[in-house]
Amino acid sequence: MLKAVFPGSFDPPTLGHLNIIERAAHIFDELVVTVAENRQKKYLFSVEERVGMIRALVQDRGNISVEVCDCLIVEFMKSRGLNLLVRGVRGTDDFSYEFELSMMNRSLNPRIETLFMTTDPAYFVLRSSAIKELAWFQGDISGMVPPLVEEALRRKFPVP
Ligand code: ADP
Repeated sequence: MLKAVFPGSFDPPTLGHLNIIERAAHIFDELVVTVAENRQKKYLFSVEERVGMIRALVQDRGNISVEVCDCLIVEFMKSRGLNLLVRGVRGTDDFSYEFELSMMNRSLNPRIETLFMTTDPAYFVLRSSAIKELAWFQGDISGMVPPLVEEALRRKFPVP
């Protein structure tokens, strides 16, 4: 039984995140998407909102679950007996960051295996932070996020 974890902030979830989630759910028997709750960070969407959006987006997939992670991901994984960690990579900048992160996680727990999935070319420019900025300026984000996320962003940033 191959069970993997896909951690992230998902503030908000984008089509790029969803693409990785769907592809990983095809490879692994079970995929746990963990939504980060870090009190030091300022999120646009609450952890409940982020979990709710991802749950709604993956509700048809029986092998995907969504949970909150408010500790180090290695601790979360240890508590569940999990050791496969999936990360999405958009390009070389992402890779160097993700590579260092994977080294750090491995030094914290040598049993952790990080698996990198390259983005689909259709989504390689998608970044939650840029999408929020675009939404704030009332830009067209329809090809970047699922409709329910687009609506949630419109509610956060109503037309003035
Ligand atoms: P971000 O603000 O970069 O979207 P997250 O913490 O929400 O940050 O990202 C969670 C994971 O999803 C990371 O491994 C990140 O590299 C990956 N990811 C984010 N956007 C994409 C994308 N467009 N394509 C592939 N992977 C992505």
